[in-house]
Amino acid sequence: MKKRFYITTPIYYPSAKLHIGHAYCTTLTDIFARSKRERGYECYFLTGADEHGLKIEKNAEAAGVTPQAFVDNIVEGFYKLWDLLKISNDDFIRTTQTRHTETVQKIFTRMLNKGDIYLGKYEGWYCRYCESFWTDTQAGPDKVCPDCGRPVQKAEEEAYFFKTSKYVDSLMKFFDENPKFLIPESRKNEMINTFIKPGLDDLCVSRTSFSWGIPVVENPKHVVYVWLDALTNYITALGYDSKDDSLFKKYWEDEETEIIHILGADITRFHAIYWPMFLESLGIRKPDREFVHGLLMMKDSKMSKSKGNVVDPYPLVEKYGVDAVRYYLAREVNFGSDGSFSPEQFVERINVDLANAYGNLLNRTVSMINKYFQGTIPAYQGQKTDFDGSLESMIELTIDSYEKAMDDLKITEALTYVNELVNRANKYIDETTPWVLAKDSEKVDELASVMNHLSRALFVASRLYHPVLVTASDKAFTQLGLSEEKALYENVHDKHLLDNLTVNKGEPLFPRLDPVVEVPFINELMSGNK
Ligand SMILES: [Zn+2]
Repeated sequence: MKKRFYITTPIYYPSAKLHIGHAYCTTLTDIFARSKRERGYECYFLTGADEHGLKIEKNAEAAGVTPQAFVDNIVEGFYKLWDLLKISNDDFIRTTQTRHTETVQKIFTRMLNKGDIYLGKYEGWYCRYCESFWTDTQAGPDKVCPDCGRPVQKAEEEAYFFKTSKYVDSLMKFFDENPKFLIPESRKNEMINTFIKPGLDDLCVSRTSFSWGIPVVENPKHVVYVWLDALTNYITALGYDSKDDSLFKKYWEDEETEIIHILGADITRFHAIYWPMFLESLGIRKPDREFVHGLLMMKDSKMSKSKGNVVDPYPLVEKYGVDAVRYYLAREVNFGSDGSFSPEQFVERINVDLANAYGNLLNRTVSMINKYFQGTIPAYQGQKTDFDGSLESMIELTIDSYEKAMDDLKITEALTYVNELVNRANKYIDETTPWVLAKDSEKVDELASVMNHLSRALFVASRLYHPVLVTASDKAFTQLGLSEEKALYENVHDKHLLDNLTVNKGEPLFPRLDPVVEVPFINELMSGNK
């Protein structure tokens, strides 16, 4: 495994407010970044906003503001949401920032001089009313403008193109040599069979039909068009080809850094095909992994405003807390597969996993330590019973499986291991029956051992939950009497960690939710009435 990590989310388009799908991708990326840092690795985490394009130009015009003012306002909301969700990104790149626009112009010039970009003609379906070009697919079988519904005409405009044909062979070789580049692997075959084999067209990288973009220095009536502008954010943010490129050297050029892009299926083609080509054209290395997550749907249909099933993450976090929402997103929808959000599942997950299993285990354990040992966790004294031995092996196994799953970005799977440990610890209480041991003075050592083992299981579970349950885990550490230093990840294997600590009984971590009240409330949120 490499010694440090650079992980990115896609940059989101600020034409409207973010919805829970964006929150999903960013939260899962955050969980990975946090888990790496907690385990002692350096991890640089980037997210941002993709701020150019016709749609923004038009939305700004409709709102009667400049495009810059328009995106400034929406991006303010991005900051607020990431703050609310406790996203730990190290940087936030905006494609309107000078650090980005200047470098994109240099990149364009370099590719132009190299002959990888040439001036040609773009042919598409043109709506004269909206002054926009649409592709065949966008215009649909009726050849109408997807925005205004008016008929569109075939038209041409002058445009620059990136010569994809030059890089197809080396891309195929790269795919062959790096079978783990694109995850899930099925995506690779999709790329090859759907896009590469039928013949890849050169990619249009400039437009003259709108002006909200980065001007091409050599021909300023053109602005750089979407993907060359957007994808390069991953290197411009690190200071590629700028005065201070120390982050670029450390987090991109150095082979000891693992570069991971997290993305949604709808943009796989651009990340898996064009991005490696751009990088090869620039003579810099390609990412190690591109992880394509699934679609977060609403009750089995795609999110859409017209269906009234878009969940605004803000009120959800405000009402249920950051931990509950982060947990639900990570646990309910298997990272890498499609999944759906439903109010019933949301309430049930919180109740079953967090309130009943984890919160209750902490509550019971701290109460018993107060009752039987005046609030002091008894010291570790080896394995008094087979039950102790079995719980100890389960703890070690859980840490091991969790780390392996996290390393592979199997975040949902990693969480299920922690859930299993919590369930095992709850079962251990039933097996050891502390309330029976407490009645027998000869069993006091056995009872002490049970309390020590339960406390350690709780520490390990809380530590492993921490990248997800960013506030509740800290509360659990406090209840177990663990200082910040003692609660560090490096102590997960220490059997004596909990010896003689003083517990502090606190509020339940996750109060049980009443489905009769909460399900209708979330439904209201989804219909946009709240
Ligand atoms: Zn139109």
